[in-house]
Amino acid sequence: MAQTTPHLLDLDHNWHAEDPSFVLATLNTDPACGLTQTAAKERQVQYGSNALEEHVQRSRREILLAQFVSPLILILIVAAIITTALGKISDTIVISFVLVLNAAIGYFQEHRADRSVHALMQLAAPSATVIRDGHTVRIPADQLTIGDVVLIESGDRIPADLRLLTTTQLRVDESLLTGESLPAEKNPDAVAAKALPADQTSMVFKGSAVAAGRGRGVVVAIGDTTELGSIAAQIRAQERPKTPLQQRMNRFAYIISAAVLGATAVAFVLGLLLGNPLEEMFLTAVALAVAVIPEGLPIAFTVAMALGVRRMATHNAVVRSLPAVETLGSTTVIGSDKTGTLTANQMTAVELFAAGAHHAVPLPDELPLGVTAALQSLLYATEATLTTDGKTIVERHGDPTETALLALAHDSGLDVNKPRNVLLLLPFESDRQYMYVIVDDNGPVLHLKGAPEQVLKRCTTQVGRDGDEPLDRDTLADAQQAMASRGLRVLACASLRLDRTTNIDPDRPFDANGLQFTGLIGLKDPPREGVIEAIAEARSAGVRVVMITGDHAITAAAIAKELRLADDTTVLTGEDVAQRDDAALAADVQRVSVFARVTPEHKLRIVTALQSHGHVVAVTGDGVNDGPALKAADIGVAMGQSGTDVAREASDIVLTDDNFVSIAKAITEGRVVFANVRKVTYFLLSTGAATIIAILATILGGLGLPYTPAALLWMNVVTNGVQDVALAFEPAEPNVLNEPPRSPREGIVSRVLWERAVLTGIALAAGSLWLFLWAKGSGASFDQQRGAALTALVVGMAIHAYNARSTHQSLFKTRLGGNRLLLGASIVALALHGFALSFGPLQTLLGIAPFAAPGWWRIGVVCVTVIVVSEWHKWWRRPKAPTAV
Ligand code: ATP
Repeated sequence: MAQTTPHLLDLDHNWHAEDPSFVLATLNTDPACGLTQTAAKERQVQYGSNALEEHVQRSRREILLAQFVSPLILILIVAAIITTALGKISDTIVISFVLVLNAAIGYFQEHRADRSVHALMQLAAPSATVIRDGHTVRIPADQLTIGDVVLIESGDRIPADLRLLTTTQLRVDESLLTGESLPAEKNPDAVAAKALPADQTSMVFKGSAVAAGRGRGVVVAIGDTTELGSIAAQIRAQERPKTPLQQRMNRFAYIISAAVLGATAVAFVLGLLLGNPLEEMFLTAVALAVAVIPEGLPIAFTVAMALGVRRMATHNAVVRSLPAVETLGSTTVIGSDKTGTLTANQMTAVELFAAGAHHAVPLPDELPLGVTAALQSLLYATEATLTTDGKTIVERHGDPTETALLALAHDSGLDVNKPRNVLLLLPFESDRQYMYVIVDDNGPVLHLKGAPEQVLKRCTTQVGRDGDEPLDRDTLADAQQAMASRGLRVLACASLRLDRTTNIDPDRPFDANGLQFTGLIGLKDPPREGVIEAIAEARSAGVRVVMITGDHAITAAAIAKELRLADDTTVLTGEDVAQRDDAALAADVQRVSVFARVTPEHKLRIVTALQSHGHVVAVTGDGVNDGPALKAADIGVAMGQSGTDVAREASDIVLTDDNFVSIAKAITEGRVVFANVRKVTYFLLSTGAATIIAILATILGGLGLPYTPAALLWMNVVTNGVQDVALAFEPAEPNVLNEPPRSPREGIVSRVLWERAVLTGIALAAGSLWLFLWAKGSGASFDQQRGAALTALVVGMAIHAYNARSTHQSLFKTRLGGNRLLLGASIVALALHGFALSFGPLQTLLGIAPFAAPGWWRIGVVCVTVIVVSEWHKWWRRPKAPTAV
């Protein structure tokens, strides 16, 4: 790159050993205002993107070669060689055409699927909080550049290498880089120039995660020049694991190959016994191979998967790992957070308990005694801000719990925009369950708020009607219980005026004790729209819903009741979980569906306990410590909006709207994908069965082959081939949510379907042979006989595709227009066949000719027969009692 700019920066420094002021001056940036947008743009051009070199995506060549590694394709290649050797060039041409077509379609489908999965993953790509032009903005992390001032907080993935400027109890997990599993403490003080990265406490590195606290730093290295960039090659994902469905497909391919070899062997023995010429037997072997191999399957499979991924995306679930698509379909338990996932996270303060009395919100104009102290605590102990036009609130910034509390203070007449001088702030973290702020208000005053248990244990006195009085724990416990049992989220607040000489160090936690309790506040958080219905649907689909929340047990139980989450709303608390060993916990999770006051560590144990019963568990998570539970779960579901980078990266699915309803929808889509792959497979199996039976029967009868290999391929790939791709587009069957989840061990095609494939195969084969023999009897040419036999099969299959649309439901109950694509594909299939039957060159290629008119009503009979056989079998094998739980 010969590009030079007038402001080329000197980047060759040991930044960790330099003072922040030197770093800022050298990088020509401002700690408060950051870079200007213009400067940032210039530097992006100059220094490039902050992205690491692409993760290894499969190259085009790899994708293309992958199309040929299936044993089935190898059999076809052998078949092409045999037909060439026998001089059957028309067969060779068609086989080669199919090979090329298959590879081309497979290639384009996979390439597109790869690209769309990649594009979807970008939606969940990390972002960074940066100061530009004096404004705090969130931008995609790859747009960061040298000199940007970045804010980081607990749960963030560090977006670039940063020299720290300020920190508040910042601890960073650098295990990715250093292997050290304990989080490292960080602060802005310069360290020795020769310190290794692990000891550079004044730096944070791209890729590590903020375990606690927060900080501000300036970007000193981006992209491949970061510490991570230099070791990235080692940690890049290697082989793409095959999805279980792909593995099952592979196994299926081996079974089919074995069937080809078996059938060929039988044909050979029979042929020899009957004294057939060798050439004819080779040709029969080729025909059999071609008949049995479901050439259309891989394409239909890829289409079904890609469609599933896309449909899930429209339902706000972004799939990060492909196997998730089908694992979702067998999910039996969803473990969900409460706030923001089941509930709307639209908090409103509805009740206040202060100075020994309950007060409904809105509070009276003249504030009752003792209430002001509580409101003062709320006003100061917060990180949220409100924009008001003097009277009404125009905009809320920050955590909904905090803005709701601030709104209460504002609506009660306090000035929320009064400037406050913050000396120290300990941010809220789920694990700790409280937060405090020390402000200078004629001397330092501490205001703390959090979960009542956490707050009250730090209090010794309370605000009474006539001033300070000893803490009355019993009354407060009753008041808290009363609010919680109405489903309110309860917070307590407290304050303490500190001695003027108190030493307040922003990097050391302050020992908050001996506080004065000021009030309890009850917040209402309504269920999210549609959640109650989604839970009911999940339950009727045999999927249990379990609430795993940080909130209080009584609140959790009240909300679980409101949501009709389970019949039994017994609650197990984090403490209960901690007391139980794995076996006892495993026994309890069978019964308990509400877990309260749990930490991420408990969440992990709950997930494992559920899995010990063979459950397939999907679990939601958003916090920095949720990673292990998300990884351990069969499906980790991260929150796209409120979730941390760390949670998103550990997950298989990201919900862009944080909504429980989206998980339920994704489960339905997962089931649909599997159901459609199964339908296509069944459909192709029936064709395979029909053709094998017909061929073996003609060998036995010494009638000559009813179909040339070319004709069989034409049918499998072109005419009925369009139909099986269309079957992959089947919409959800109405009963998809009334059935229990599929066992993850179940094969692609169930026993019932194997049975049905053989029976319908026999019907089709019989029909096809009937036409073959009828044509022969009426003195038609051999090509005409084959034309009649093939037409019976193609038309019969075109009708049979409609049988395949539902496993249990009658053809007459499925909506004909439910899959328009299939309707179109059937017309195309029949038109193509009609064309082949009457177009000279295709006639020659496929070895067919038009047959006499009386053949057509016979073909009508074949269609009716295959419908009758399928309907009868569906009726006979339909699960008699509903199996749903
Ligand atoms: P879930 O895990 O289902 O999202 P949750 O949001 O209630 O549930 P947390 O956010 O971990 O769980 O909150 C736990 C408790 O901490 C709450 O019940 C509340 O008492 C308290 N709390 C929540 N937010 C704050 C906050 N901003 N400041 C102080 N305390 C808070």
